[in-house]
Amino acid sequence: MKQCVETDIAIIGGGIAGLWLLNRLRQQGLSVILLESDTLGGDQTHKSQGIIHGGIKYALQGVFTKAAEAIANMPLLWKKCLDGMGEINLSQVPILSTQQYLWSTGSLTSKLAGFFAGFTLKSNISSVQKESYPDIFQHTQFTGHVYSLDEIVIDAHALIRELMKPHRDVIFKVDPMQAHQLQFDENNYLTSLQINAAPMQPLEVKAQKYIFTAGSGNELILNKWANPPVTMQRRPLHMVIMKGKTLPPLFAHCLGKSSTPRITVTTHQTEDDNQVWYLGGHLAEEGVQRTSAEQIDFTRKELQVLFPWQNFEEVSFTSFFVDRAESLQLDGSRPSSCYMKEVGNTIVAWPTKLALAPQLSHEIIACLHSANITPCVADMRALRAWPIPAIAKPIWDQLF
Ligand SMILES: Cc1cc2nc3c(=O)[nH]c(=O)nc-3n(C[C@H](O)[C@H](O)[C@H](O)COP(=O)(O)OP(=O)(O)OC[C@H]3O[C@@H](n4cnc5c(N)ncnc54)[C@H](O)[C@@H]3O)c2cc1C
Repeated sequence: MKQCVETDIAIIGGGIAGLWLLNRLRQQGLSVILLESDTLGGDQTHKSQGIIHGGIKYALQGVFTKAAEAIANMPLLWKKCLDGMGEINLSQVPILSTQQYLWSTGSLTSKLAGFFAGFTLKSNISSVQKESYPDIFQHTQFTGHVYSLDEIVIDAHALIRELMKPHRDVIFKVDPMQAHQLQFDENNYLTSLQINAAPMQPLEVKAQKYIFTAGSGNELILNKWANPPVTMQRRPLHMVIMKGKTLPPLFAHCLGKSSTPRITVTTHQTEDDNQVWYLGGHLAEEGVQRTSAEQIDFTRKELQVLFPWQNFEEVSFTSFFVDRAESLQLDGSRPSSCYMKEVGNTIVAWPTKLALAPQLSHEIIACLHSANITPCVADMRALRAWPIPAIAKPIWDQLF
């Protein structure tokens, strides 16, 4: 007979959503285990740009969208955590930038000008004086405008490390799960998970609630349901990374014609002491149509237009594809907020944005309260010698 582990909550997937939730649920006195089939944060979370958006990126066309509203409260919550005074202590997570700039290449359209006028009253967006422009815009050839947004940028690798640190005793590596490892009863209730981690003996995990925060891996449970009450969409990106010794620090969105920035730049340090510019925005969304060589070529041309005075000859380029996994929207657009759905004793969840992970945890906790999930006796002895997953390396240290 298989050995059995009993816990209040089993979380499947150790990206930002699973790890934030783990921290919050253990604060509530619940027994929780987190199961990860690869590296912690290794899928979307480590590939994120680490921007704690305050909503403006979603309102670039001048309309304060639902998404912007949902996300507007997040920066303050994160700041408290980063100051060591919030719901989770993240005081050891480096803040890479206290602000994200927004720049235009020429004059602003009247719509955007109107938007800024309204937004300035609600949020911390301010016009920057020339002498305070980031170094790269201090050039005489730069004729655009620069705004400062109250959006912090954090180190996603350190974030995962700090969220994991206090909970190493309940985070376990499992071999990738197959559908047959999910056991259901006749009412479609998940009764147990069969987990493996060769060479360990297989185990059975029984929980009051099973919470799937596995990003695109949530498909495992969705595919088990005949008529899934939840569906997922993938929105692909083709991100670009530039690496060099002399890249100036830049954290900025470039205003473009579409609702997403023409390009979004964040700057990071590699393990071999180089700088990288990590490029997303419209460049990455539209770039899924291009091969890697085409994307790099396109990026070089964009840089030539945006920074004609800057020499990028010594810089190496690479690119990669990644999917954002979220709840399905009828028009395929970005969901306006995080998403969770309770189905029997299972919850399936996607944060939609790194910045929204706290909001997602709040919603899941409220759901557990209304389901009367309270701490029961846990038995985790069989997991004592079970392996612990590693934390993923930053994507630039993997690709260069
Ligand atoms: C390129 C890019 C840039 C982004 N930039 C930003 C940004 O600047 N700001 C922002 O707010 N958001 C950003 N996002 C969005 C944000 O990164 C994601 O919304 C968030 O990281 C999703 O977290 P998650 O925990 O749901 O999923 P993931 O980070 O994908 O984690 C899921 C985990 O589940 C594991 N898993 C999968 N299947 C199983 C299984 N069967 N059993 C056990 N474990 C399993 C995976 O290995 C993985 O570790 C960005 C996303 C991308 C792709």
